[in-house]
Order: sequence, then structure tokens, then C-alpha cells
Amino acid sequence: MSAIEQTATPLTATQQTQTTCPYCGVGCGVDISQQNGQLLPVAGDSRHPSNFGRLCVKGSALHETISHNGRLMYPLMNGQRSSWSQAINLIADKIQQVIHTHGPDAVAFYGSGQLLTEDYYVANKLMKGFIGSANMDTNSRLCMASAVASYKRAFGSDTVPGCYEDLEQADLLVLTGSNAAWAHPVLYQRMVAAKKANPDMKVVVIDPRRTATCDLADLHLAIRPGSDAFLFTALLAYLGETNNLDHHFIALHTEGFGSALETARQQCRSLKDVAGQLDIEASDLAQFFHWFADTPRTVTFYSQGINQSATGTDKGNAIINVHLATGRIGKPGATPFSITGQPNAMGGREVGGLANQLAAHMDFSAAERDRVRRFWQAPNLAERPGLKAVDLFQAVKRGEIKFLWIMSTNPLVSMPDADDVKEALKHCELVVVSDCMADTDTAAAAHVLLPAASWGEKNGTVTNSERRISRQRGFLPPPGEAMPDWWIITQVAHALGHADAFNYSHPADIFDEHARLSAFENNGSRDFDLSGLSAMSRAQYDAMAPVQWPVNAQYPQGRQRFFDDRRFYTDNGKARFIAVAPELPAPRTGGDLIMNTGRVRDHWHTMTRTGKAPRLAQHISEPYADIHPQDAALRGIEDGSLVRIFNPRGSLLLRAHISDNQRTGEIFVPMHWTSRYASAARMGTLTDSSVDAISGQPELKYSAVNAEPFRPGWQGFVLSRRDIGTPDCAYWACGVFGDDIHNPGMVYEVAGQGDAGQFVDALRQRLPDQPLKGQWLTLSDPAQQHYRHVLIVNNQLEAVIFVHKDLQFSNRQWLTECFAQSELSSQQRRALLAGQPADAPDHGAIVCSCFQIGEKQIIQAINNGCDSSDALGKALRCGTNCGSCIPELKTLLASHSAGSDTQPAALFSDAACTAVEL
Ligand code: SF4
Repeated sequence: MSAIEQTATPLTATQQTQTTCPYCGVGCGVDISQQNGQLLPVAGDSRHPSNFGRLCVKGSALHETISHNGRLMYPLMNGQRSSWSQAINLIADKIQQVIHTHGPDAVAFYGSGQLLTEDYYVANKLMKGFIGSANMDTNSRLCMASAVASYKRAFGSDTVPGCYEDLEQADLLVLTGSNAAWAHPVLYQRMVAAKKANPDMKVVVIDPRRTATCDLADLHLAIRPGSDAFLFTALLAYLGETNNLDHHFIALHTEGFGSALETARQQCRSLKDVAGQLDIEASDLAQFFHWFADTPRTVTFYSQGINQSATGTDKGNAIINVHLATGRIGKPGATPFSITGQPNAMGGREVGGLANQLAAHMDFSAAERDRVRRFWQAPNLAERPGLKAVDLFQAVKRGEIKFLWIMSTNPLVSMPDADDVKEALKHCELVVVSDCMADTDTAAAAHVLLPAASWGEKNGTVTNSERRISRQRGFLPPPGEAMPDWWIITQVAHALGHADAFNYSHPADIFDEHARLSAFENNGSRDFDLSGLSAMSRAQYDAMAPVQWPVNAQYPQGRQRFFDDRRFYTDNGKARFIAVAPELPAPRTGGDLIMNTGRVRDHWHTMTRTGKAPRLAQHISEPYADIHPQDAALRGIEDGSLVRIFNPRGSLLLRAHISDNQRTGEIFVPMHWTSRYASAARMGTLTDSSVDAISGQPELKYSAVNAEPFRPGWQGFVLSRRDIGTPDCAYWACGVFGDDIHNPGMVYEVAGQGDAGQFVDALRQRLPDQPLKGQWLTLSDPAQQHYRHVLIVNNQLEAVIFVHKDLQFSNRQWLTECFAQSELSSQQRRALLAGQPADAPDHGAIVCSCFQIGEKQIIQAINNGCDSSDALGKALRCGTNCGSCIPELKTLLASHSAGSDTQPAALFSDAACTAVEL
């Protein structure tokens, strides 16, 4: 094993660290500090140009997610602890054997936008330069591959033209396929501030759902799902018809305008027809077209609602077309702007993390292959693009991939047709998973598990959605034997006999090579150029300030906007219009509802980190399905009940949330819950494997499903001081609670059929009453399936089990607070079986996670005269920290400004319960 230089220095009493949030593509700077050996709550870095000190609630809770609970500490081979050298040698031997027997294309890597650029660089170099296959793809294929493909078609390069400042300088902000308020909250806050500063700014939100982002909208177009390309193609026809075109720009700097416009005209003959295709009012469409035509400073901001589509590349080009037609690119406040989901999706694009890229924004042309081969001195450079994610896992299932290494991602949850991916892994001879967490759906399917260092322990760089490279700096030592991903990959490279080519002792060495490759024989021919960041000393790398690429002789401080010089990276230097003939999603079989998927405000991806923070578990504590009232009524589904969402591929059990924010015929299911957190909530099991023919990005927003009520015989909840594993019942969902971020309690929502008494008895067997001499308080009524059992150990609350035929017990706040008591008082003990003292306040569901302000408190304050989110902030502090809840505050203001607080009566009164001490 080769040595590694220190990558993380534990903080001393006075040390501070500037690093970057590991969640979304906004890439916020984070200040880390500690006092007396204790990590303080994180703060936004006021000097970081992406967030200027702001953080959303996920970023604000980062320090709550760094406990070692659930971490993978040591290498494991077939479930047995091994040494690093045993694991590395096994992997290298298998790769060599597979190459020898089946060729390099039988080897595959599947990476992640969570990897740092340095990790990504060495993984890509090993696979494409030395193993000799391009079967290195990444979960970024699920995120923004269509945006990449559309940029390359239009600009000849994967170039993000604009920057975050453009959002503030625009007079018209068009958000399409983006719930920025929840998915990119700090950018949304910048938009909110910009609109406040410029009340004339117009905001249009295009989304089938009415999301929190619509709170900012002057106009919401709730279009038919998947019809975005119709809208923007029709807009191009309208701009042509009304002569709102930049003829000079079109003539001098673009090609293909005539055929794009003609195609648009043929497809979109009248406003009324188009409005019919989109299923919106023609007057709303006309209003949007009018604003667009009249507003030179326009930004079109788009994300997964555009990209995660079987026609996502065309959608991206339809958007770019209208910006090219009006010359709105490369100017302040005027750009098409695709926002990435992951923190380092852009870094992956830079190094060639996608199977159809080679490296440093070079592809597989003969000249580019030759250039990269000479730079790497690569003996086996891949000759052609590799398999994209969906194709890759299908090849695994066919037995064509014999060795698969999955790095920092959880495809058994996130891939479409996720159960098929689960099945596919059974057909692979060796599956390696490197991850920081031990208990993921994908880790459970691996033969070899490699413990990776996590955020806070890693050192390297990430690139955000505006091309800004920021340092991620380690400030904690990795636990156990966890190691950085770049180190793990280079050790395998060494064992394969490539020590000279992978001779790095620090991520700075890798970054330097990455920067030099970007500059190699570039001479302005490629957009991605970090020549100005090569040959940095270790101290310069450590101190590197956030900077937007390119960084070179022409742009030594980085470049804010591309294409301000009207020069594109096509052969003739002109941007290309793409003739888009829009298509609605193909009809789906398997159900009469269309399922859309996406994020919730306080969770990230598959919850491996955010699931550890009690504060983040409170906003939405269970997996759910949003259903329109008409669809719910038709199926007998009640708000708050359990619902089965199913199609021939699989079945989910979720909490029904009935809401007219949905269109009829459509439901929404969040993407986050895994087998670790719920009995059946992996939305990927219901999505099919349709992909965009150009980008290979899967359609994750349009799956046919059915919905029906699930009527359990009983339901309830369990609170426990410790993890009790997977409850044995039809439905469960779990999360964490409490103030102790290192040892949070666990809360389980449960529901089942059959005898609730048996369920309670089985659960009690898992709780540690015997060795700890615990004391049970119980209330049991088998005829009503009504059980309340409370375990007290050493006069502290250890566990609570409440189960009833039709339990609707919403306020667990008091019970969870009792877990924090070092000693229970006699009044508290008496009240435990009631679940609350008679005078306990019920604050309702938590809306403001930062200050733990509940919905009922907010409604009360509105009834007391608070008439704005500012007024609520003054009265309750809600919305005054990260601001993520402000859209919900405004929704409550809108619906309760003349209403009254309706505190539901407690289901069980104190007097009705008799405590029985056993
Ligand atoms: S918006 Fe929130 S999740 Fe995204 S980078 Fe910033 S703090 Fe992190």
C-alpha cells in the first residue's frame, strides 16, 4: 500500500476551515469552526460568490450528519472483514482475469456526482486509459446528460454560458422543470432577493405541479407533463411570426435557423392548438410569449424536469433555440441555464465521467484519442464510447459485465426499473461497492465493500453549476480504515501494474495533472482550460479560492460568461439551431395515472446523510404520494391514509397526501426513501427504462401507475432510544428524532394486518428490558387492537409503542422530549400512556426546521395579525435563518389569513388511560 499524505487535520481550538456543501449543484461555501474540541453549527461562507453566506436547511444541518453511525469502517469481502491489501489484490486479480478471458469491455465502473474531481479523474483515467474500455458511467447520467448533449449540439462544447449573477440581472426569469425553492434553495433565495430589489422583474414557472417555487411566480403554466418542447418550439414560431428576432446575431453567429423555424412553424400552427397540446389557457400562453418577446434580459433556468425525459435533449435545444433566435446569450441577465442536481456533476463532466466522453472535454475522435493517449502515455486507450448507465446495467444482467465497481452511489434505489438492476447484480461475478455507508440497498448486493472517506474527511475540488471550482477541505480524520476514493482507485491501479502512471500522494498532484491535460495542445480550441491553475504549489492548492473556469492567460481570474465574444466551439465557430419536432411522451401501459418524481425540501438523494439529522427528518417524515382530490375520491383514497402505488414492475406503500397542487391524472412521489428507511418506497422500482436516444438519460418523470387504498387492520408508531431494525409489518417508515445528533432516537410509523398484539409482543422482544431491568407500563385492549406500551429503564424513557385500529395521534413532540429527560418525574410517568400531559401544546407539523416552528403555531400567529412572512419571522423567528420554509409560510398566509386555528382534540384523554406497571 502506498503512503498517503495527511488529508484532514483535526481542528484545534482556533482553527477554521472553508469548504463546500456536498449536496446540490449550487455549491455553497461553508465555514467550519470549533471551540474546545466541539464542532460548532456550520455557517455559510460570506466570501463565497455562490452563496455569500447563505445556506439552506440541508447545508445548515451538515454538522448534524457527521456522526459515525452506520459508517462502513473496514474493507469487507463476502461479509468478512479483510485488510486493504487483501481487498485491493482480489479486485486487481479479478480485473486482470476478466480482461484476459473476456476483454476489457467486460469491466465497468459506475461513479457519482458525489465524487470529488480528483477521485473522478483517476477512476476515468484507469478505466479509459489503462483497462482499455470506456465503460465508466455515472449517476450524473440520471441528472444532466441531456443538458450536456443539447449544449454540445448547439455550441459544439459542453459549455454553461452564464452565471448566477445573471439570475439577479434578468428582467424575466423563466423556470422550467425546476422546483428551485426545494432543490436549489440558495439560488431560489437569490431570485427572491432579486425580485424584491426589482419589482418589475417577471417570473414564469413552467411545471405540471404547483410547487413551492410558484410562490415567486407572476405566471404559472401547469403544462401537460412532458410537453415543454412544444412550448419552446411554439415560442420560436411566435418570435419568428412577430419578428422578435436578433437578425444580426442569427446571420453572423449561428446556422440552421431557417430549418429550425420552418419545423417550428409546421409543428405549431396556432396559439390555440399549442395551448391545447399543453393543456393550459391560450391567454396564459400568449402572456408568456408576449413577456418573452419583449424582455431582452431573459434567463431560462432548467433542471431535472427537462433533463429526465426520453426527449430531454430536444427539450434543451428547444430552449437554447429561443435564446439564439433573440441573441440572448453571453450577455448579463440573458442566458439559457441548466442547473445540475449533484454537487460535482460538473466536475464529472470535466474529467470525462460519462461513458461517451474521454477526458477534459475531449471525446473519441481519432485526434482527441491520440492526444489523450500521448498525455497519459496510456497503453490501452479506449477506442470508442462505453455503455451509458441503463445500457450498462442491462449488460450486467445479460452477464456481459463480469466485474462492476460502484462508487459512492446507490443505483438499486436511483436507477429506473430498480428491481431489475437489483436482479442484474446477481449476474455479475464480482460487484465492488466503495461507499462511506455500510447499510445501503446497493451495499447489500456487493461481494466487496470498501470504506470510503466522507464529506468533512475528504480533500479536493468540486465544480458547481456556474463552472465555479471550489475546494472541499477535510477537517475530520476518517473513522476506522476509511480512505479517500482517489487513494482506493490508485491502489488498484498500482496492483494492476500501473504505479508510475498513478503515482500520487495527495489530491493536489491529481488536480495538477487534470489542469495540465485541459491545457494540453489546447490553444483556445477547447472551452475547458485550467492552464492557469497548473503547477500550483501545495500551499496554493490548499488556499485556492473559488474560481469559474476557464482559468488561463486570457482569463487569469476566471471567466464569468461564455459567448460574450460570439465565438462557439463548432467547426465554423457558429452556434447551431436544432430543428426540434416536439413529441409528447409515448403512451405508457401499466396504469391510468402518470407518476412524476423529485426531491423534498429537507432530504438529499437516498438519505444516507440527511437521514441522520433529526432536524431534517421533521419536515416530511414519511414517504408519500401527492394525489389530486378527484383522483383520490375516484379511488376511495383519504388524505393521510396509506395508498398502494403499483404497476407491473413493482409496488410502493406510501402516505397519501391529497392536494390540488397536482393535475388530475398525475401523482408525485419523492425519490429519497430506500429500504433502509421504509418498507416499500423505492420509486425507481416503478419507473421504466425508456431513455433519451441521444443522451441516454432515463425518463424518470413519466411512468404509468395505479393507485388504490391500503387499509391496514391497525397502525401506530414506535419511538425507541436505539435502532430496533426492520419492523415486521406491512408498512413501516423510520427516521430519527431528538437533540443528540450522535445518538438520535428512532421513530417508526407502522401499520399492518392481523393481530396487533403479536406485533407488539414481537417488538418488545427486541427491546432491552431484561438485561437492563426495565419496567413496562401497558394499556391493552385486544378487541380494539389497541395497545400502548411504554418501557422505562433506570427511570428514563427507553421505548414507546402505540398501536390502534384507527390511530391518528399526530403530536409526538412531548413524548420525544421525554426521551431527553435524565429522570422522569411522577407526573410525566403518569402521562406517558396518554402520550401527552393534559395541557401539552400541539405545535403541528414542523414547517421551520431551523427553529422548530410548527404549522399550528404559524396559523395562530396569522390569526393574531401576522400578515407577511416578515411579520411571522419577527413573531416566531420562522424563515429567518435559511429561508427554505418561506414559500410554505406564504402558502399558510394565503390560506389562513382570515381563518382560525383549529386545534384537533386529543384522541385519547389523560383520564381514559390507566397505567399498569408490570
Ligand atoms: S443550496 Fe443548500 S444543499 Fe445546495 S449547496 Fe447550498 S446549502 Fe448545500
